[in-house]
Parts: sequence; structure tokens; C-alpha cells
Amino acid sequence: MMLPMTDRLYYHDSFLYDFEAEVCEIAETPRSALILDRTAFYPTSGGQVFDTGWIATDSAKLHVTEVADAEDGRVVHYLEAPVKDLQPGTRVHGQIDATRRRDHMQQHTGQHVLSAAFIRLFDLHTVSFHMADEYCSIDLDTPTLTKEQVESAERLANEIILENRPVDIRFVTREEAGKLGLRKLPPAERDALRLIDIRDFDLSACGGTHVRQTGQIGCVMLRKAEKVRQGWRVEFVAGQRAVATARRDFTTLTEAAALFSAHIYDIPQQARKSLDEIRSLRKQAEQSQEQLAAAQAAAILAETPEANGRKLILHTFSDRDLNAIKLLAQKLTRLAPNVVALLATTQQPSLVFAQSAGQPSDMGALMKEVLAKIGGRGGGSKDMAQGGAPDAEKLRAALDEAATRIRGAPSTHTA
Ligand SMILES: [Zn+2]
Repeated sequence: MMLPMTDRLYYHDSFLYDFEAEVCEIAETPRSALILDRTAFYPTSGGQVFDTGWIATDSAKLHVTEVADAEDGRVVHYLEAPVKDLQPGTRVHGQIDATRRRDHMQQHTGQHVLSAAFIRLFDLHTVSFHMADEYCSIDLDTPTLTKEQVESAERLANEIILENRPVDIRFVTREEAGKLGLRKLPPAERDALRLIDIRDFDLSACGGTHVRQTGQIGCVMLRKAEKVRQGWRVEFVAGQRAVATARRDFTTLTEAAALFSAHIYDIPQQARKSLDEIRSLRKQAEQSQEQLAAAQAAAILAETPEANGRKLILHTFSDRDLNAIKLLAQKLTRLAPNVVALLATTQQPSLVFAQSAGQPSDMGALMKEVLAKIGGRGGGSKDMAQGGAPDAEKLRAALDEAATRIRGAPSTHTA
């Protein structure tokens, strides 16, 4: 048995927000869903997302949370909650969420105008359209897209909007459509085509919901343009979305401007200046740390007596991080030829072992051995090694263990 297709009221009037219908079927899919004989609800299709709203009976108001096209040509209204006591044949009243529908009409008609603008100006064709909650996008079939092209298309689209051109719905046969020079012709499956005619600007076959006059789009604002696999993706917002987006941009910029005590248009310049200052200060800090480490290394070496031909330096720091003790170890082992430095920091408990070039021990191996005993991890080269300890209390034992091993090892006397 062939089920009758749902009569789509939005095909003829996109501004029909209220309608009467009869229930044909109640389905559990497992979500509860209703199929009606006629509907003004738009199901997700052709890049435009579904309407939401309500279906009211004499005793209940059911929330429609999603609307989809079934393969048999019927429209399925998914409901938020299971349906009780509803029979096929019941008369219901449908009500579309008008705010959401108006937003979709603005975005969708805005897309027609924008796609046509890219063709008129640069012969760039739209290959796909996507509508998300925050923004929409079209993919253009082109290997390149310049900032100037984006701005020109935006300007032309907004001129067409300001001219408030009529947006008419026409039904033609496929044969008639072939002679009209459509921007977009759907794959051959239906004989009757629904055309959206933006007076003297764009003609394309489309089943979506559109405004009646281009002025109702409000405006189109182009956002990010990025290279994608099949061309260039251009994000845009239209109507109230454009206003909401501009409002959010302004709020963000105002907050950033306050941080710099600057006008919003001076933010890039101020940010560049601040970044330059940060780079310069970071460089100065690095130089100061180097100088400080060199001075401290010299002082430590001066007060460390030589034993068995070497200077063994053993120290745990609580006020320095791993990078600082590494730097100190480098300075110590470079300033004198017979140094072994066994250093630790209790900040993120870690160890650094280093020796002057030519000393006989193996710091990497020593690090591995002592860390194995306390359950840490690390390693390094013959002259420099580092590792992490599971907790600060174990550092002292690890350093003592390493020192004992160094003292027991033969030393090289350097004159
Ligand atoms: Zn359309």
C-alpha cells in the first residue's frame, strides 16, 4: 500500500506558523513521533535545518524537537515526550517556533543572495551549504579566494538586500526549468520543480523556506574564509544573527581594549607592542639568570675544597626550578675542569647530575641507578643527566647515594 505523502504547507507559504492537520500515524522509533496529513514544519534538507515547535490536541501540547524527511515522502515530527491517548484521525493544531524559522529564512535566503553574488562577480560556484547553530557556510569551487573577492561579494549581497527585491516561489516542469538558466538544478528525480526567484538576480531550484523580500534578510556579514579540500569555505551570518555576532565581537573587543586602556581599533597595535615588550623582557631575564648562575657557580667553587683531586658539590634547592639548577650545573662544570655537581630541587622534585668534560664517571648511568632505588625516572649523557623523583623526601637519600658512589670511584687528577 502506498502511503500518501505529507502535504508540505511551507512550499507555498514560509510565513505560515500555525496550521490545522490530522494525525495519520503515531510511531515509536524509539522516540515518539507523529505523522500528519499536512504540515508547516520544515524537515532537515538541502543544508537547512529543521523547525521546532508544538503540536496541540484538545488535552495536550506536545513539544516537537526534531523534524525529518522519511524515505516515503512523509514528514516525521519527533516529540520530546511519549504520546498518550492519541489516535489516528485526531485533529491537531501545529505551531512553528517562529523565531527559529525566521532565523533560518534569513540565513537560507541570505545564502541564495551570497552564492549568486559570487557567481555574478567572479563566476565562483557554490558546491555546498551548511547551517550550524552559530554561523552558516558555503563551499566555493575555486582554488583561490582573495580578501577583496570576499569583501566585494559581501557588498553586492547587501546591495541586493537593501534593494528589497521580491523573492517569488514558482513551480515549473523540468523541461521549462532547463530553458531558464538556473543557478542550481537538482538531480533528475521529480518532474515538478520549485524555483526560488530573486527578481533579476538569482533563480534556483530549492525546497527550503525563504523570506518574501530580500530586505527581510536584514544583512549578510562574511566571516572566516578558509581553504578546504574541495575549494574555499566562507562562513557568514545573516539578519539577527549578524547583529548578535557583531554585538559579541564588540563586547570582546571592548574587554580587550580596557586591558590596554586603548580604543578598540588600536588593539592590534597595542597587542603587538606588548608582545615585543614580553620578548625583550624574556631575553633580559634569560641574560640575568645566566649572569646570576655564573656568579653563584664561581662563589660555590671558591668555597668548595678539593678532595681526591675533584670538587664534589652537593646541594638541594627549594627556591629554584629544574631549569635554574641545570643552568647552575652547566656553569659549575664549565668554570673548572674537575667538578662533579649533584643538585636537586624540591620544586617538582628533580635531580641534575653533571661533571666537567673529561671526568671519568658516567652521569647518565649514575642517575638511572639512584632513581631506580627511589622509583624515579630519568637519564642523560656521560656528562649531564636529569631525572624526576616521586617525592621531595627521597631527594636527600638519592643525592647521598650518588655522592657515596662518586667518592668511591677513582678520580682523574687534572693539573
Ligand atoms: Zn533555498
